[in-house]
Amino acid sequence: FSTISTLADSVGALKRIKEINSLPLEDQFDIVIDNNKKYDSVNAVCFNNVTFSYAEHVLGQKTEEYDENLILRDVSFSIKKGECVAIVGPSGAGKSTVLQLIERFYEISNGSISIFGKDYHTMAREELRDKITYIEQNAPLISGTIYDNLSLGNKDITEEKCICALEKVNLSYLINSRFKGLYSVIDENASELSGGEKQRLAMARALLSDSDIIILDELTSNLDSLNERIIKNVVDELRGIKTIIMVAHRLSTTMDADIIYVLEHGRIVGSGNHSELIKTVPLYYELAKEQMLVK
Ligand code: ADP
Ligand code: MG
Repeated sequence: FSTISTLADSVGALKRIKEINSLPLEDQFDIVIDNNKKYDSVNAVCFNNVTFSYAEHVLGQKTEEYDENLILRDVSFSIKKGECVAIVGPSGAGKSTVLQLIERFYEISNGSISIFGKDYHTMAREELRDKITYIEQNAPLISGTIYDNLSLGNKDITEEKCICALEKVNLSYLINSRFKGLYSVIDENASELSGGEKQRLAMARALLSDSDIIILDELTSNLDSLNERIIKNVVDELRGIKTIIMVAHRLSTTMDADIIYVLEHGRIVGSGNHSELIKTVPLYYELAKEQMLVK
């Protein structure tokens, strides 16, 4: 496993250098004298009273219809750089919507969102998407080779890094069993890969990605416990190096997060760590009970 941690370490270190170089000079200086503390306290993602509706035609009108169509209501939270945060809650609560708003798939109705302290309306979409890797449940594959699917066009991603990443997600056999190794073409529809393999391949992309923020939406939902464990291990590897925001129906996937937000009908009804939420948020307790995490 030594090569594996070396990869993560060097990726982390490189990223850090890049990030520090891109800061204003006075902040770079602060980092040096403050032993990185100042930069580490920067908020990666901040939602301020975010209200959102998919029904654009009712926006701006404070009618009953507007209210009924609200998907998110006054959602506020801040996620520090390097934190691992989870959003849980019943199906339809608005979890995926929150994740998609971070990438600005839609415009918000009210409130504000900032990414690394910058109002995200002032950022070019490419800049935003460079900072964020979004991995959803049905992670799409692109037509091309295994290498293409891992590098996604980023020429800085070397063969060695790809091989390391595949090792970490237990997919080395994908290249070892094929004549052309990393350059074997995989079927775009990936009918040859199982759901678990596709999601593990997506996790390998996360390991290789340059972005600061990794978003994982319901990655483990349809996975058996072996696949769930592999993904959990990768998340653990990325912790501290990346800012991780994950949504999962299974609380066993999210219970180790630094902070868990509980979302119900588009509102945050509680936040804290697993054991705090069990004691203080009835909805969380119910979910935990359903999943046999408490008696
Ligand atoms: P979750 O991920 O918590 O299950 P979602 O964020 O996917 O919930 O959905 C929240 C609500 O928004 C649901 O009522 C859902 O039907 C609705 N919704 C989700 N996506 C869209 C969309 N593209 N257009 C209209 N309504 C949507
Ligand atoms: Mg969802």
